[in-house]
Amino acid sequence: MPASTPTPENAPAAARYSRHARLSLIGQDGQRKIEKGSVLIIGCGSLGCAQAAFLARAGVGRLTLADRDTVQAPNMATQLLYDETDLRDGAPKAAAAARRLRTINSGIAIEPVVADITAANIEPLVAAADLVLDATDNFETRFLINEAAVKAGKPWIYGGVLGTDGMAMAIRPGRGPCLRCLFALPPPEGRLPPPDVFGVLATAAVWVAALQTTQALKALACGGADWGRMHTLDIWNGTVTTAEVLRDPACPCCGGR
Ligand SMILES: [Zn+2]
Repeated sequence: MPASTPTPENAPAAARYSRHARLSLIGQDGQRKIEKGSVLIIGCGSLGCAQAAFLARAGVGRLTLADRDTVQAPNMATQLLYDETDLRDGAPKAAAAARRLRTINSGIAIEPVVADITAANIEPLVAAADLVLDATDNFETRFLINEAAVKAGKPWIYGGVLGTDGMAMAIRPGRGPCLRCLFALPPPEGRLPPPDVFGVLATAAVWVAALQTTQALKALACGGADWGRMHTLDIWNGTVTTAEVLRDPACPCCGGR
């Protein structure tokens, strides 16, 4: 079959993304901007899987997925991109997620980075993206993301999930608070148990990821997001509360810039 023969999977972007483009809040122009966007997702766990699936389906032009871990049995309940082949092979999550995402949308660029994200490698990754999504499960990496994003002037979307609760906040350096305006220091070790100790409800993770992804799409499509508004979710009781976070002029990261 000639390459130019239309098939359902290579339908024109106008058809493929029409549900989003028809939304007055996004529109054709916003959708085209989304298709030119480049997003770095740090973490391919429960949050990162859902974020990546939403963004690949939305047509974001380039996705970079970073994670050092391999797929393990407890991941299967909450991490939506992996199957039993990945589990049996002990596949690196970033590579397995990229493989799956390419079957969802072969028309976008997807780059897996199988590595621990540290101060030594984060800056070029952040510099190459328009926006960063936090899908980590620890504050050490979030502080690294914050530092690199403030330095590069790139927006990023904080998000965390634990048990049936979650939090999300869009951060735009120079236009509102950064993470260290909110938490000057990481919470003391042991204060926030990781999900493998405390548990996590898959639907809570998807809800947090949906809120983060919505902020990302708003930022890509129209440059706007709810910068500096912290959303706190409790999916068990179906509640969301929102609070304005103020920039701290004495912030050790963004203060005085
Ligand atoms: Zn700050």
